[in-house]
Amino acid sequence: MATALETAKLEVSAFFSAIARVKTFRPTKYNRNGATYTVYEDLGDGNAGQKKLAVHQAVSLITSKGFSLPTDTRFYVTNTYEAQNRAFHFDPLGRPVCWVTLGMAATKGGSGSGISAQPTNNFAPETKVTIHEIGHTLHAHNVGVEQFFKPSTKDRWKGCAVCAGEVSQYAAGTKKEFVAEVFLGTMIGRNYSNKCKQEYALLGGPRILASSSSSGFMAMS
Ligand SMILES: [Zn+2]
Repeated sequence: MATALETAKLEVSAFFSAIARVKTFRPTKYNRNGATYTVYEDLGDGNAGQKKLAVHQAVSLITSKGFSLPTDTRFYVTNTYEAQNRAFHFDPLGRPVCWVTLGMAATKGGSGSGISAQPTNNFAPETKVTIHEIGHTLHAHNVGVEQFFKPSTKDRWKGCAVCAGEVSQYAAGTKKEFVAEVFLGTMIGRNYSNKCKQEYALLGGPRILASSSSSGFMAMS
């Protein structure tokens, strides 16, 4: 069986082949709210402007809640099919990075069964997709490469039915998606039952700092 680092390397090579399909990316470096990140804009993506706004909004919300992003944080904005909405958390040497691709479906809220596709007052689908993807990265860095790439982290799990009702259908898919969806929901101001919060903490969900979020919660660890 592949080691965690081998799995991480496979993922990252998938990332490179996805972005290689885009002919021209225009990189712009931003330094906002203490976060430094680069947006790579596919000049053929008609929704690029909208997605860039989503990136700024997502980063500023997340950093305002006390999280910091890795030094190497990049967002690839494109409309090629190969680049789906994904997040890559480790570079080929296993070092923590945050590389997010926002593909064709970003402006529709991704797969359609998650919070990103639900109508919400203040957040566009692409902003929610970005928060969800960053949630995966923060989760991965929180638990570390070994734990995150354990096959069981991709499992379906017992809390599914309950949490699907409370969080989203997509959250019931796997432990990883549950964490990313609860992270997203909390960031946009939703609150969840204690059972749900406990499950999130047990799975190593990124700790939400009580001091900076009225609707947030502390992890149990
Ligand atoms: Zn996800």
